[in-house]
Amino acid sequence: MTGFFRVSIKKALIAPFIVVFLCTIGTILWLQKERYNDLAQEVSTQQLDSLTHNVVQSLDRFLERPFTAVKTLAHAIEYHHLYDHQEADKLEGYLRSSFNSLHEQVKQIDLIGFGSELGDFLALRRVETSTASAPFILMAQDARTNHQLTVYSGHDRNSAADDVIAHYDPRQRPWYQPVKRTPEPMWSKVYANADEQQDITISALSPVYTENNGQPSFIGVAVVDVQINTFDRFLQDIRQQHKAQVYIIDAQRKLVAHSARSSIVDSHGQRLTMANSSHTTLAFLDRVMAEQPMVGSRVFSHSVQGDTEYIMISRYQTATDLDWYVVVAISAADLLGNISIGSEQTLLAGLLLGALGLVLGIAVINRVTIPLTETAKAAKQIAAGSWDYPLPKTQTTMEIVQLVDSFSSMRSHLRASFHALREQLVRDNLTKLYSRQGFIETCSALPVNNNGCMMLLGINQFRDINDSLGHDQGDVLLAIVAERLKAWVLLENGVLGRVAGDEFAVYLPDIERQEQLCYQHRIRQVFSAPFVLQGEPIMVTVSIGVASASNSNCVDTCLRNAGIALSHAKSESNRSCIYTPDMAESSRKKTKLLKTLQHAIDHDSFEVHFQPIIDLKSGETLGAEALLRLRDEQQQFVSPLDFIPMAESSGLIQTIGNMMASKALSSVATAIAEGQLAPDFHLHINVSVIELVSGSYVAELAEIIALSGFPAKQLTIEITESRLADNDPVTLSNLNQLKALGVSIAIDDFGTGYSSLAYLHKLPFDSLKVDKAFVERLNRDNAHDSVVAAITKLSSSFGFSLVAEGVETHLQAELVRELGCHHAQGYLFSAPKPLEEWPQLRATA
Ligand code: C2E
Ligand code: CA
Ligand code: CA
Repeated sequence: MTGFFRVSIKKALIAPFIVVFLCTIGTILWLQKERYNDLAQEVSTQQLDSLTHNVVQSLDRFLERPFTAVKTLAHAIEYHHLYDHQEADKLEGYLRSSFNSLHEQVKQIDLIGFGSELGDFLALRRVETSTASAPFILMAQDARTNHQLTVYSGHDRNSAADDVIAHYDPRQRPWYQPVKRTPEPMWSKVYANADEQQDITISALSPVYTENNGQPSFIGVAVVDVQINTFDRFLQDIRQQHKAQVYIIDAQRKLVAHSARSSIVDSHGQRLTMANSSHTTLAFLDRVMAEQPMVGSRVFSHSVQGDTEYIMISRYQTATDLDWYVVVAISAADLLGNISIGSEQTLLAGLLLGALGLVLGIAVINRVTIPLTETAKAAKQIAAGSWDYPLPKTQTTMEIVQLVDSFSSMRSHLRASFHALREQLVRDNLTKLYSRQGFIETCSALPVNNNGCMMLLGINQFRDINDSLGHDQGDVLLAIVAERLKAWVLLENGVLGRVAGDEFAVYLPDIERQEQLCYQHRIRQVFSAPFVLQGEPIMVTVSIGVASASNSNCVDTCLRNAGIALSHAKSESNRSCIYTPDMAESSRKKTKLLKTLQHAIDHDSFEVHFQPIIDLKSGETLGAEALLRLRDEQQQFVSPLDFIPMAESSGLIQTIGNMMASKALSSVATAIAEGQLAPDFHLHINVSVIELVSGSYVAELAEIIALSGFPAKQLTIEITESRLADNDPVTLSNLNQLKALGVSIAIDDFGTGYSSLAYLHKLPFDSLKVDKAFVERLNRDNAHDSVVAAITKLSSSFGFSLVAEGVETHLQAELVRELGCHHAQGYLFSAPKPLEEWPQLRATA
C-alpha cells in the first residue's frame, strides 16, 4: 500500500460514524419534508373543504334573505292587489313599510322595487352616506312623475327630487325580460344599475301576476337588489374571519364578487375576467381551467413569491339559476402554521440525539484506539532505538489489554536480547575490555579534544608465544596484559580496549603533545616486569603506534592512523612511531599495489620483456635478460623496483618468481625450437634472495626447466649483490644445487652493495654484472682509473665473465670493450621488449 491510502485506525473507525450520522440527518430531513408535504396536502384539503363549506353556507344564507324578500314582495303585490297603474301610493306605502324593517334586518338588501308591464317603476334604495336624512330614498316613475324616473332625496315624494332620469324603461332592463319569460323567481345576471349611481348589482327577481278572468296575467317584476359592493363586504367579513380570500366567479369566468378591496370592473366598466384580473390566484386557476373543465370541487396549491397558497374551487349552483364557482384561497402559513413548527422540533430532537450518538461513538473509539496508537508509537520508537516510550496503562477492552501486555513483555525480551547482543558487540569476552566497536563508541561519546592521544600497542612476537606455549597460555597472557593496562589507564582517565588479537588501544583524552613520549615510556614500564606463565617468567615487549586526535578526525580514523604508525613502529629500532599524514599515503599505495599484484597472480597477467645481451666484439646477440612487467588498473607499467619489494614482503615473491621463470623459459625455448633464436641463446633471469632462502626453490626451478624444455646450461640466475646473505646455509646449498643442474649464477648490480668481497670466494659465481651507475660515469679521461676498470681486472683474476649494464652510448660501449668487458646490455642496443617485438628474431619458414 502506498502512503496515500494509509488512514489512521481512529479515522477509519470514526468516518463511518460520521457518514451514518449525516445520512440519518439527511433521511430525517427528507422524511420530515415528505411527511410535512403529505400532512399539508391532507390538512389543507380538509381545512379548505370546511372553509369552503362555511363560505357556501354563508353565501346560501346571504342570498336566501333577498330571495325570500322578493318572493314575499311578489306575493304581497299579487295577494293584496297592491299595484294600480293609476294609483301608486298603495304600493309605495307597502314598499316603504317593508323596507323599513328589511333595511335594518337584511343588510345585504340595497333596493326593493317593482317594475310593471306598463312601464312603471317604484323602488326604495338604501342610502349609504351617514349624512343623509333618511336611511333609504324613493325612486319612482309613473303618472305622478310624468313617467320620468325621479330619484328623491327622502323616502317619500315630499322630499326634494335629487335627479330625474329620462327614457327609463324598466321593461328594457336586464333583470326584467328573463323573469317575464319564466314563471319562477330567479337571480339576475350581474349588471350595472341604470340610475344615477350605476352600481354593479345582482337582483333577486320574481314575476308578479294578477287574476284576470280566472287566468293569471303577468303584470310586472318584483326586484330586490344586492349591490356587489355589499356582496364584497360580506366576503371581506369571511376573509377577516378565516384569513382566506374568497372569489365568486360566474360560468363565463368573470368575477362576480370577491373579498379583495378592489373593483370587479375595469376602467371601462367591463367586468374583469379571471385572466385579466390582477389576482395571481385567479390567473393560475384560469390556466388550470383552460386545460380541464371543472367538475365538483378541486384543491390546488401553487407558489406565490416563495409562499405556498392552497386553493379550493367548487361549483355553486342553485335552483334559482345561479351557476357560479366559489374560490377559497389561503396561504400555507395561515392554513398550516403550527404543523411546520412541530416538524422543526422533531428535527431538532433528531439532530440532538444523533449528535449525542456521534459524541458517544467518538469517545468510545478514542478509548479503544488511543492504546492502539500509543502502542504503535512505542513500536516506532523501538525501531528508532528508544525503549522507554510509555505504554498506555488503563484499557477497558479485553483484546487491547492482551495486545498491550504482550507488546510490553515482547519489548522487555527484545530489550534484554538487544542488550546482550550489544554487550557481545562492545565487550571483548576474554579480557572484558571494550571491543574495537565498544572502544570506538566510547571514545566518540567523549567531548572532542585537540589534545586527545591514541596509542595502539602491539605485542611483539605474540605469534611465537602462541606457537610455543599454546593458545590457552596466549589467552592467559592477554588477560594479564589487560589487567596491568587497565590499572594504569584508569589512573590516567583513559579508555582502554582490545581492538585486535594482540593489539590494545589506549585513548587519553587530554595530554600535551610533548608528553606523548613520556606516556610511551610509562606503557613500556607496564611491560617491564616479566609475565609468569606456567610458572615460567617470560618477557613481553610491545610496539607502539601513536596518533594525535584533532577536531577533524573521528575516532575511527584516529585509530586507523595509530595502526599505520604501529606497522611502521614494528620495523623501527625503538619500536615506536608517531603517525604523520604521508604514512597514510604510502600505506594506501601499498595496499593498492598489493591488490594489483594479487590480481595479476589470479589472472596470470604478468608480462615478460627481454633485453638483449650483446657480444661487443662481434655485435651479435648472445642472449637476453628477462625482466618482469606488471600493469596497474590503468594499464600503466608499475616499476619492478616498487612491486618486487612488495612481493617479497608480502610472501608473494615465490609464486611470482615461478610464474615469471615459466613464462620466460617456455617462450625462449619455443623461439629456439622454432628456429627464431640461435640454439645456444642464453637466458638470464632475476631471482630474489627471498626465493633463494627457501628450501624448495631448486626443486621448483628444476621442474620449470624440465617442463619448458629449455637447456639448464644456457640459463643464468642473477642475484642482487646488496641482498646476498653469504652465511646462510640454505642459500649456499641452493646455489650449489643450481650449479649441479648446470645453471650459471651472476651477481647483479655488482659494486653497489657488499663491503667485503670475501663472499666471492665462498659462493659459486660465474659472472658479474657491472652496475649501470659505473658505466654511466665512464669517459675517455677517467676510463683507466674507473670502477669498471677495477672490476674487469678483478673478474679476470677470478675467471668470471662480465656484462656491462646500462650502456646507452657508443662511447660507453667502446670504452667498456677497451677495458676488457666483452658483453653488454643497454638502451644503445635495445630497451627490454616482448620477445615477439625483437628485430633479432629470425623469420620462420
Ligand atoms: P636489474 O636486474 O639491474 O635490471 C636492469 C634494469 O636496468 C632494468 O630495469 C632495465 O630496464 C634497466 N635498463 C636496461 N638498460 C638500460 C639503460 O641503457 N639505461 C638505463 N638507465 N636502464 C637500463 P627494470 O626492468 O626496471 O628492473 C629493475 C630491477 O627489478 C632489476 O634490476 C631487477 O633487480 C628487478 N627485477 C626485474 N625483473 C625481475 C624478476 O623477474 N625477478 C626479480 N627478483 N627481480 C626482478
Ligand atoms: Ca638483472
Ligand atoms: Ca643490474
